[in-house]
Amino acid sequence: MTDELLSVKHLVTTFRTADGHVQAVRDISFSVKKRETLCIVGESGCGKSITSLSIMGLLPSNGFIESGSIEFEQQDLAKMKKQQLQKVRGNKISMIFQEPMTALNPVLTIGYQLREPLRIHQKLSKKEAHKKGIELLKQVGIPYPEKRMKQYVHELSGGMRQRVMIAISLACHPSLLIADEPTTALDVTIQAQILDIIQNLKDQLGMGVIMVTHDMGVVAEIADRVMIMYAGEKVEEGDVQSIFENPQHPYTIGLLKSVPDVDKPSILLEAIPGTLPNINEEISGCRFHPRCPFATERCKQEIPEEYQINNQHKVKCWLREDAKNDSDFQVISTT
Ligand code: SF4
Repeated sequence: MTDELLSVKHLVTTFRTADGHVQAVRDISFSVKKRETLCIVGESGCGKSITSLSIMGLLPSNGFIESGSIEFEQQDLAKMKKQQLQKVRGNKISMIFQEPMTALNPVLTIGYQLREPLRIHQKLSKKEAHKKGIELLKQVGIPYPEKRMKQYVHELSGGMRQRVMIAISLACHPSLLIADEPTTALDVTIQAQILDIIQNLKDQLGMGVIMVTHDMGVVAEIADRVMIMYAGEKVEEGDVQSIFENPQHPYTIGLLKSVPDVDKPSILLEAIPGTLPNINEEISGCRFHPRCPFATERCKQEIPEEYQINNQHKVKCWLREDAKNDSDFQVISTT
């Protein structure tokens, strides 16, 4: 029996805009196994959040999946009707958003918001759902859970709200948890606590986790595997050790150089020059070439092939062309 939980193949997500159709996610493929954390990393606007919203079926009204498949428990989520998707969402797949204030309802008590998914998806009575809600708040480390059940969102701190969001998202024991920048708005101590909670619950419940982040510090803390996205494309993917110790793509190297190292405080941090292009900007060849210090004429004209570095590690960059005849590397696909 396979441990694979989610398999995304050749996903293309497109938006209808005043300037016509623009692709926000461009032909990406990846998978997530049970008890595995995949971190999707990149700057704001690189397509990482649109990828997770595509999986959840929560794209804005002008967005749609143009092609590709999202297989989860032998079903293709990309082809599911809205009603079928609602049964999966919040039940088998849950999502934690960056800003709990926009995801939690300010006029309903925490207790109501915790009981709701349990009553809808698990068909529990009000009493059973209330008891389970208290257990969930305890599980995410919230003190005085009985009291919290009666409170409203504005009565809780930022870290507490994020814990409530996690409790709600775990209410129905999802197989897959998608966390979109869940700690960005929190201070570092609370951030570490929230990452610990997600990590522990993943191990206890055997969930797969997709963590969307721009923070390589979070990646180092929590990832098993890492997928780097740039301008809607996957540019590098590998196990966390290989990505940190042997990064191949100039963009990944740039991201790592912009992270402070506590062991080497004297080393100056480097910023990646330039900015991410707009999603409607057509760029020939490699989409990173206007910012890449190694760009050649070929990079400006031809889309790079994807190369396998080891079993887990792949990179899409012409720099690997030089290593084509080296036994360590092989081309795995052409575009
Ligand atoms: Fe840089 Fe060329 Fe590699 Fe793109 S293909 S990342 S431009 S070296």
